[in-house]
Amino acid sequence: MSEPASSTRQNLLGLDRRALEGWFAERGERPFRARQLLPWVHRRGLDRFAPMSDLGKALRARLEGEAQLRAPRIEAEQRSADGTRKWLLRLDDGNAIEAVLIPDGDRRTLCVSSQVGCALNCRFCATARQGFGRNLTRHEIIGQVWAVTRLLRGEAQAAGDEALALRPLTNVVLMGMGEPLLNLEEVLPALRLMVDDLAYGFSRRRVTVSTAGVVPAIERLAEGSDVSLAVSLHAPDDALRDELVPLNRKYPVDMLLEACRRYAEGAPQRSVTFEYVLLAGVNDGPAEARLLARRLAGLRCKVNLIPFNPFPGAPYRRPAQDRVDAFRGILLRAGIRTITRRPRGDDIDAACGQLVGRVRDRTRRSRRLAAEVGA
Ligand code: SAH
Repeated sequence: MSEPASSTRQNLLGLDRRALEGWFAERGERPFRARQLLPWVHRRGLDRFAPMSDLGKALRARLEGEAQLRAPRIEAEQRSADGTRKWLLRLDDGNAIEAVLIPDGDRRTLCVSSQVGCALNCRFCATARQGFGRNLTRHEIIGQVWAVTRLLRGEAQAAGDEALALRPLTNVVLMGMGEPLLNLEEVLPALRLMVDDLAYGFSRRRVTVSTAGVVPAIERLAEGSDVSLAVSLHAPDDALRDELVPLNRKYPVDMLLEACRRYAEGAPQRSVTFEYVLLAGVNDGPAEARLLARRLAGLRCKVNLIPFNPFPGAPYRRPAQDRVDAFRGILLRAGIRTITRRPRGDDIDAACGQLVGRVRDRTRRSRRLAAEVGA
């Protein structure tokens, strides 16, 4: 018997519990097989069915024939002097994405990508420069968590660190390449796997989705999941935000803040984090800080200030430290919890806004063609 081509075998990696139960049921198998399968795949990191001893020989053979567990392949790694690690992951179609591990005390946060490239064109972000490739599938999104967990667990076991092997990651943030809320259909099942006790078992507070402000999708996220929300605000008024985050022309600040308010109030433990990249002389003055404080008054939220991380050809600079401190001071005095993020991994271009990966697709080719014909 010849093996079916890998493309005809259903990838089970990104199916959440309910979808897996359905998949087994459709094949006349008992739905609770899903609960047996999940820990093998996501807790133990298996990518073959044969060793899954509680599944029965016949079922395992059937799974090998009809299904597969396929994740993006880790192709290269870079390590920062500060302990940050960045991986280039290769996708089946030749595109590549990046994922970043940010260790901080007891916390080990993995920053994952949701799209190849990005369509939003925020002025201060390197990912925007490569244009939009495509949405990642649910398999490719959870596959980043799967691949890195497996790598770290192996390293911890080799070093005899049992505690680390049990819990290689503590947090996941969807703050890599792409806009997760423009790919919600694929993002949601991946989020459900992250918080499922039979898979990764992260608490909802430790999984964060970051958005540039896709308002209707914030509402849908609120219905489909209970994770933490981060919103990339970057400006307190429409004039400035229209320029920095072009998406603002569609969903202006008032509308965005109203959606954030509803998200925060929709469940008891939810709060919203606002990210604010500080660009010297552009959005980092006391007037912007005061206006921001007024706009956020009464909202259950905190603010993360991110001093701009430079990349080649960027039209902005990082403000001086006293400017950053003054901005933060104004927010703190207004009673808003505010922290300044240290740049992490900027020596390997792993910091916020520095991820580029590789887009290999029509968008990129057509732009090159357009450039060649002088369009
Ligand atoms: N599209 C989503 C997910 C990307 S998250 C979003 O916009 O939230 C990446 C975070 O890094 C965002 O807050 C983004 O605004 C910020 N960022 C982008 N470029 C940056 C840069 N050059 N320096 C600092 N932060 C940057």
